Amino acid sequence: MDDPRFPGGHLVPPIFPASVYPYPDLESLDRAMDGASPGVFYARDAHPTGDELAAKLTALEAGAWGRVTGSGMAALVAAIVPSVKTGDRVVASDQLYGKSALWLRDELTRFSVAVEFVNARDLDAVREALARSARVLYVETISNPLLRVANLEALADLAHKAGARLMVDNTFATPVLCRPLKLGAALVQESLTKFIGGHSDLTLGYVGGTDAADSKPVHAAASTWGLTAGPFDCWLALRSLESLSLRVRAASANAAELAERLARWPGITRVIYPGRPDHPDHALARKLLPDGQGAMLAFELAGGRAAAESFLRKTGVPLCPSLGHSGTTISYPAATSHRDMTAEERTRLGVTEGLLRLSVGMEAIDNTTRELFGDSTE
Ligand SMILES: *Cc1c(COP(=O)(O)O)cnc(C)c1O
Repeated sequence: MDDPRFPGGHLVPPIFPASVYPYPDLESLDRAMDGASPGVFYARDAHPTGDELAAKLTALEAGAWGRVTGSGMAALVAAIVPSVKTGDRVVASDQLYGKSALWLRDELTRFSVAVEFVNARDLDAVREALARSARVLYVETISNPLLRVANLEALADLAHKAGARLMVDNTFATPVLCRPLKLGAALVQESLTKFIGGHSDLTLGYVGGTDAADSKPVHAAASTWGLTAGPFDCWLALRSLESLSLRVRAASANAAELAERLARWPGITRVIYPGRPDHPDHALARKLLPDGQGAMLAFELAGGRAAAESFLRKTGVPLCPSLGHSGTTISYPAATSHRDMTAEERTRLGVTEGLLRLSVGMEAIDNTTRELFGDSTE
């Protein structure tokens, strides 16, 4: 911005809350509306605070273009809708964020787009599903709540060979720990509501990619379907980016330490963390996420739901049906993220009645350990 009062620009990004901008004449408005000039005119299409946030995230993801949306779900819609038309197929992991699975299964299929869910850890099953001409392969870097890790390079290769595009929900890893676009994904999506916002005070999403040709249709979908992000939330997220790397690294190191402590705790029968050697994806996690295997971990209590209920009554860690807060929070997947499933489906996935999930924060981990177990100390 060439404002003589700020010859050095801005240390802190300015916020532009306007929903519309005036133009000096019809000719310049025409140019902006045609995209021939960079002028913004209406905030549902684009606004400077959102554009700045998108540009910063795109740099972090090492992408060619990006778009901020009003939520992580909006980012999923903005990315998938322009990629498919009636009669097309999407292949998706069978371990997805609950609402993402719901949108693919119940909403996208209204438009006669077929969606097939496969075990993304079974590369033969993925290859087979892609052989029936799919447009998109959709997976999460780290799944919820069992923290299965996707072999992104192998999946990108399979998608590429089948003429499909790999799209990755990178919400649990964040670009600090994994950059799917560098591993062959065509599209990356994040819920900024979680670790990137990091303070549970905003709702936003991001989608970006490597092929500049995708930018226009995604922007058009976001604008016409009304998936726009509000400037205030974007501004908060810009501030969150300043500490993102520190926060995610600290939280991930805390999770690794807490996983070890939990594994020694009586009454806990299983600890699920990709950084632990007993996790089924440990080797892959070390390779894909060398700087830390994330801030999410799960553990199982002997005694099923009754034990979980008693634990949640006593613990000082807040029970929250979300993740990515600055401090540690706990949730109960069987009644929250996996509530809509039948008991059999949950059992098949390994979401048992005694399973609790932690979103580990960046605070001093000794305090968390004390709070987690109420008054008792290790
Ligand atoms: C929360 C979440 C979403 C959806 O994001 P919202 O911002 O809540 O719309 C998508 N994927 C994953 C993995 C999530 O955790």
